[in-house]
Amino acid sequence: MEKQCLECQAPLRGRADKKFCSDACRNSYNNRLNSDATNLMRNVNNTLRKNRRILSDLNPTGKARVHKETLARKGFNFSYFTNIYQTKSGNTYFFCYDQGYIEADTNHFTLVRKKEYID
Ligand SMILES: [Zn+2]
Repeated sequence: MEKQCLECQAPLRGRADKKFCSDACRNSYNNRLNSDATNLMRNVNNTLRKNRRILSDLNPTGKARVHKETLARKGFNFSYFTNIYQTKSGNTYFFCYDQGYIEADTNHFTLVRKKEYID
């Protein structure tokens, strides 16, 4: 079977491992891949930064109790966090960088900052 350029589908001749008909096709193919990854990463990073900002604003002293609605109203996105911390007793903290939260009851979260509970 004849191989085709991954970018323009032109038939390829020459080396068996050849993927592109030209440098131009290789470049535009790779540029498109990279920009897709960059857009996704930019959106995820922005969401994480916004989440961290919201938690930080609501937690000026390092420990706070907030209503679920308050987070939602500010646009907090519960699907995005940087890491999870599970305590020995089985409680799960979610973190956006240094800012964390844990479900306190059905309607409230306790907000924490990383350094507060690490020691
Ligand atoms: Zn091509």
